[in-house]
Amino acid sequence: MTASDRAQSGERLASDEPADESRLEELRATLDVVSARIERGCADAGRDPGEVTLVVVTKYFPASDVLLLHRLGVRHFGENRDQEAGEKFRAVRRALGEAGRDHLTLHFIGQLQSNKAGHVAGYADVVQSVDRPKIVSALDRGAHAADRRLRLLLQVSLDGDTARGGVLPEAADELADEVAAHELLTLKGVMAVAPLGADADAAFARLREVADRIRARHPGADWLSAGMSADLEAGLRHGATHLRVGTAILGSRPSLL
Ligand SMILES: *Cc1c(COP(=O)(O)O)cnc(C)c1O
Repeated sequence: MTASDRAQSGERLASDEPADESRLEELRATLDVVSARIERGCADAGRDPGEVTLVVVTKYFPASDVLLLHRLGVRHFGENRDQEAGEKFRAVRRALGEAGRDHLTLHFIGQLQSNKAGHVAGYADVVQSVDRPKIVSALDRGAHAADRRLRLLLQVSLDGDTARGGVLPEAADELADEVAAHELLTLKGVMAVAPLGADADAAFARLREVADRIRARHPGADWLSAGMSADLEAGLRHGATHLRVGTAILGSRPSLL
């Protein structure tokens, strides 16, 4: 089965079929490799792996994979498309029942449109891709409507342009103050994707400066989300508290991404 076939059959949740057992072993093996990279990356950076949260990015992969990863101990998941994420995690939470769902944290990491943000506020626990005031107010309205609290990270653009999302570093302080002014929204820190083809270390060093500046104004904003499959070690060198890893664990996504 290809990744896109699996994504199509997102509602298929049976977890005791033989096929799922082999997928379980596949995921256990890739998760072990990534965990070893994190241990090693932390050791090299003189950091404690206990302060690093692995967010497994399950976009394009079905709810059944989320449940297998949950069996393997993963509790933080990342998704980037509203409709897919909403449906998949409704199914996941249903399958996990009352007891399991409390321990699951869903991070929304995709570009947001203000007309979708209210919906995302209804099911995401953390939104990592906040990049403009309109999104902040839409999330706030959604949080009120759903009577939920949301933790937010500002997505910072590190390539000097905002086409792929993200607030420019010089505008981040003002956006941080804006988030902090909303009662149901908690500012937790910053997130970035290293620009394509750029040196990830240089990019994450710039992100670290923005993170430090924002934390000086908002002491609770101590999360730094940086590092994906290809550059998680660079993230760890520059203080990442959250890594967002997809392909290194789940395999490659369909190329239409
Ligand atoms: C897809 C995605 C990831 C995961 O990327 P991989 O290279 O598959 O690890 C991380 N962050 C964001 C914002 C993404 O969209």
